[in-house]
Amino acid sequence: MHEMGIAMQIIEIAVASIPADLKNAQVKRVNLKVGKLAAVVPESLHFCFQIAAQDTPLCDADLNIEQIPVKIRCENCNIEWVVHEPVFICRRCNGGSVKMLSGRELDITSIEVVDKDA
Ligand SMILES: [Zn+2]
Repeated sequence: MHEMGIAMQIIEIAVASIPADLKNAQVKRVNLKVGKLAAVVPESLHFCFQIAAQDTPLCDADLNIEQIPVKIRCENCNIEWVVHEPVFICRRCNGGSVKMLSGRELDITSIEVVDKDA
C-alpha cells in the first residue's frame, strides 16, 4: 500500500511549510492534485492520511483530492484528448507517437494553516 508512504510525505511537506512563528499552528486542509495514472486510490490515501496524521499538526486536517484526467497529445497530428485508460495510439491518425500531457501528477497545490492561539 504505497498510499501510506504518500500520506507520510504529504504530512512531512505540510509540517515543513508551517511558518516557524506559528507555535500552535494547525493544518486545516491540504489540497492535492492527483493524476488518474498516479495509481493512488483516494479512499486509501484518506485512510492512511488519518492514521499518519495522528499526533501531528495535521490531525484535524481535511485532505482534498482533485483528480486530474489523463490527457494525451498526438505528435503527428497534434490533437489532444482525454482518456480514461492509458492509450498510446492516436485516435485520429493511428500514429504511435503520442505524449501524455497530464495524469501522473501528485502535487500539493495548497495548504491551509490556522494558528490556534490567534
Ligand atoms: Zn494523430
